[in-house]
Amino acid sequence: MRILKADHLGMCFGVRDAIALARREAARGPVTVVGRLVHNETVVGRLRREGVSFTPDPDGVTTPVAIITAHGTSDRRREALRERGLEVADATCPLVHRAHEALGRLVRDGFHPVIIGIPDHVEVRGLAEDHPGVEIVRDEAGIDSLPIRPRYGVVSQTTQPVARVRALVARLRDRMPDSLVRWIDTVCRPTKERQEAAEALAAEADVVVVVGGPLSNNTRELAATCRLQCPRVHPVSTVDDLRREWFGPDDTVGLTAGTSTPDDVIDAIERRLREWATGCRDAGDHVARPGGPLLERTAAGTV
Ligand code: SF4
Repeated sequence: MRILKADHLGMCFGVRDAIALARREAARGPVTVVGRLVHNETVVGRLRREGVSFTPDPDGVTTPVAIITAHGTSDRRREALRERGLEVADATCPLVHRAHEALGRLVRDGFHPVIIGIPDHVEVRGLAEDHPGVEIVRDEAGIDSLPIRPRYGVVSQTTQPVARVRALVARLRDRMPDSLVRWIDTVCRPTKERQEAAEALAAEADVVVVVGGPLSNNTRELAATCRLQCPRVHPVSTVDDLRREWFGPDDTVGLTAGTSTPDDVIDAIERRLREWATGCRDAGDHVARPGGPLLERTAAGTV
């Protein structure tokens, strides 16, 4: 059994910064996060233990400080919190801010706004709420149901696979050859890097483990990308979800993780896989390099 690790995987800077901000604020006094700071139960549990409260509803904030998550929110909701006298600590990722700015620019330039993404995802809701009449499209059927308009301006949720966004924009242009369709690419760099690395990994692997919370959109997208290359893909949240029977002695096992997955969760899973790989070697089942260390690719290359 051989283990390959994606060249880019795991927590992005936007999520790391949001967690750091929540911890700093909690050290100062009671704080409430509006929504989920990250789609990862392990991280949320740790923050709760450090005194951070969570509420899905802005009206449910009972502490002096409200934290906006890395997914961002609309100007309208941010202002509503301030009007209630709350101090707003804004953990919106700069790359989500960039998507808001791009959409605002398109609207100001006279384009009818379109967001490619998941309609009920918090980031998409935040993007949409400041733009009445915005169209939210998640697939080909959504593109096909858009009314003909002279000018469409398109952005996407930051964690959409860029290939899908590009294909949907092309379909919109094909459907409306007489319309002006302007697309600003708002898929974030960490998502692109993880998607590309996952695709390359899955092409080489017999089985892929994708680590992330079940509510994490980018983790689901990583798993979907891997399935295009490799039929045996197992999403897991923690090391306890791993099953020994998923892996054969001759398998190359790929490991990747979504942008809200903490390092120690990935490390625990990698350690368990490594133990099983060593078990295979000790049992004489299979060795990647007979008598030598297991081959393993890390961010620094193959070691
Ligand atoms: Fe920012 Fe991208 Fe991370 Fe979202 S996934 S927090 S947009 S870096």
